[in-house]
Amino acid sequence: MGIELAVRQYRRRFVRPLHTAHGLWIWREGLLVRLRDSLGRVGYGEIAPIPWFGSEALEEALSFCKVQGGEWQTATVPAGLPATQFGLGCALAELNGERGFSGDEPAIAYICGLLPTGAAAMELVSQRLAQGHRTLKWKIGVQAIADEIYLLQRLIEKLPQHIQLRLDANGGLLIDQAEEWLAVCDRINSDPQTAAIEHLEQPLSPDQVPAMIELDRRYQTAIALDESVATVDQLEGCWNQGWRGVVVVKPAIAGSPQRLQAFCQSHQPQMVFSSAFETVVGRRAALAVASRCSSAQAPALGFGTQGWFADDWDTLTPAELWDRL
Ligand SMILES: [Mg+2]
Repeated sequence: MGIELAVRQYRRRFVRPLHTAHGLWIWREGLLVRLRDSLGRVGYGEIAPIPWFGSEALEEALSFCKVQGGEWQTATVPAGLPATQFGLGCALAELNGERGFSGDEPAIAYICGLLPTGAAAMELVSQRLAQGHRTLKWKIGVQAIADEIYLLQRLIEKLPQHIQLRLDANGGLLIDQAEEWLAVCDRINSDPQTAAIEHLEQPLSPDQVPAMIELDRRYQTAIALDESVATVDQLEGCWNQGWRGVVVVKPAIAGSPQRLQAFCQSHQPQMVFSSAFETVVGRRAALAVASRCSSAQAPALGFGTQGWFADDWDTLTPAELWDRL
């Protein structure tokens, strides 16, 4: 007998819908997969696609799994299904006894805390600092640029000097706007008495890599690519175009975890690992990849995504969550 493949679908609601440059995100939907062999060994995996981020749609992942007919055929998962590659790759690795994320959850100081967009960030900042975050992230490109730059300056006044702030534009800026933001960031970063802007994440749309290479060269504040490097294929493409700056990687949608690790080992890029709002199953697997790829002085992990859902799933083990679905 081969390896049994079981699939369960989940749907969870954000406590507050997320405003992104791509619109409102209300429900997080995905799949948990479980592989079980004739010896009774079990491996869990999670397929947590984000289609507007370049991964497959949930329906595509689901139909690929259904075609397997309840059995893992050891088929190769196609390149167009990176979230499926990750979920099944992790389940297979666990089944084969490869060590998953066995450590404790990373300390909060090493996790980047998320702030809501716009003026709501001002209300939540004290809470995030009290929780122990030392790196915070604020999404921009949602409101008028003049209003957001004004808010940024107020936010910086409110932050202690040792705090790092990441700005994330989700590819929503025009070149002129990106330059305006970078000039403001450089001015803030030239003052050693204030909190610093760690980087500006994905200012321009994903295909504008040469323009972002140029901006990264011209301004002091670092640029991080995120949407441009959604998958390992794209990461390799940007590397070949000459990008050597920071890259944000969401392992859950990047594709094969083994290929991602191989890329990190051979090129040692400046990586920021990030969550894709996955459940405990994908989170543990993504943290395992991050810990295998990271150096000792790695930047804060973008995994400040617990407590964002209107359920208690963050308190469950993978097996408990599986039983719940
Ligand atoms: Mg981002």
